[in-house]
Amino acid sequence: MKKLIFYALLTVLLPACSAQKEVVGTGPDLMMSLLGETPIEEDLQELCDRFGGRVTGTEANLQSVNWGVQKFKEAGVAVTKEAFTIPSLWIENATIATVSGATHFTPKVVAKYYSKTTPKGGLKLPIVEVGFGTEEDFEKAGTSVKGKFVLVEADLCLDVDGLFKEYSDAAMIDARAAAAGAVGIINMSSRPKKLLYRFIASDGPDHGLVNIVMAREDAFRCQRILRSGGQLDFEVELDAVTETEITSYNVIAEIKGSERPDEVVLIGAHLDSWGLGTGANDNGCNVAMMIDIARQMTQLKVRPKRTIRFALWNGEEQGYFGSWGYTKSHQQELDKHIMTMSVDIGSGAITGFFTNGRPEMARITKQVMKPVAGLGAKGVLDVPIVGTDNFDFMLEGVGNLVAQHQPFNYGINYHASSDTYDKVDLAALKMNATIVGSVALGFANLPPEQVTWKRQSYQEVADIIEKFHLEFPMRMFGVWKVWERGERGRKREK
Ligand SMILES: [Zn+2]
Repeated sequence: MKKLIFYALLTVLLPACSAQKEVVGTGPDLMMSLLGETPIEEDLQELCDRFGGRVTGTEANLQSVNWGVQKFKEAGVAVTKEAFTIPSLWIENATIATVSGATHFTPKVVAKYYSKTTPKGGLKLPIVEVGFGTEEDFEKAGTSVKGKFVLVEADLCLDVDGLFKEYSDAAMIDARAAAAGAVGIINMSSRPKKLLYRFIASDGPDHGLVNIVMAREDAFRCQRILRSGGQLDFEVELDAVTETEITSYNVIAEIKGSERPDEVVLIGAHLDSWGLGTGANDNGCNVAMMIDIARQMTQLKVRPKRTIRFALWNGEEQGYFGSWGYTKSHQQELDKHIMTMSVDIGSGAITGFFTNGRPEMARITKQVMKPVAGLGAKGVLDVPIVGTDNFDFMLEGVGNLVAQHQPFNYGINYHASSDTYDKVDLAALKMNATIVGSVALGFANLPPEQVTWKRQSYQEVADIIEKFHLEFPMRMFGVWKVWERGERGRKREK
């Protein structure tokens, strides 16, 4: 199977390699080697199946950090474990629920991230159904929701656009339910076939609601009974671990530059995942990719002119704490980070890169991508991404890219119990590794006169946030206030 993919790709790649001469600093050997036989699939399988559900703060997560270190060591790449702190931690232990009254059954449920826990022995309260939880819906329900659980319907979510809508709606629903005096929310799962997922849009620990996701079919069953005049109670016991400050670790490996070792090109993917699935498309596949690129570069004795760093970030799912930690502990080097890239949108084929509101990065990225155009990576979209590990580099004014992928099956399995090894597009992953490896090397070998961009000032970063209206998504992901207070990102010039 693997060989078949290799030969098929060879024909796609050859024209790109012959066009290579006009483009400075690319590695056709590296591209061929990444498309050929490598242990990327075995690595991914090991990571997902042995350390699946690597929630930051758990034993499995620590084991995966050591696994990452070991993999880079075996590949002959210099590697370190770098500590950072996460200000607060929330990990679900167990959530058990029963619906009773007009009927009696055990619905499939999971806690929403940062839900308030219940007293030991649980909590039993009536359910009030509030449609989609719009302002109008809550107005209509009036005081009837006070002291109760509200049941909120959700549209079916099958792709990334659906995810964004679900997240932006959720922030408002939480606020409305809290204002109306509800004790908790039962969020209908937006995925079919009783699929559950870690729903993370949240104001953080402050909302004070017991926040549950219920399997779509179970939630519709409740809704139908309530709409036909039946009464229902919801009994739930939710136990979660909460801690105020924990230490976690990024894995940072590097191949030193031969001419400009103090200048850094950094590519990374997050190692941690949510606990329901095994973190395959989000984001084990791209962790395996980082290791594979480093290994093939070392095997081929590729000597990039600038230093190439490989980051396996941690604490990403809770708010990109690992990459934020890196920008703090490497603050003195950030002026010399010429490009930082995050790969975090699954295993669909890479079609290009988001360049995050930096026209000069868009222009040079297009140039650096030329050798891999034959693999489908051609486009740049110069809009900023909020929601993964490029975020703190963007806030620090450092040139940053996010790989853009074909949707494949990312959206439907996102943070869900179904995000497992078998969902990864292994053929596309090999091509993606080739694209990312080639682009990283392309940036590392750019002649100095072509590096025309610089680290941005506070004002330039603030202008991007304003121009692209990032306040709303930053609030949605709970990272607006820390920027506004000056605790996160580039500091104002004195
Ligand atoms: Zn992710």
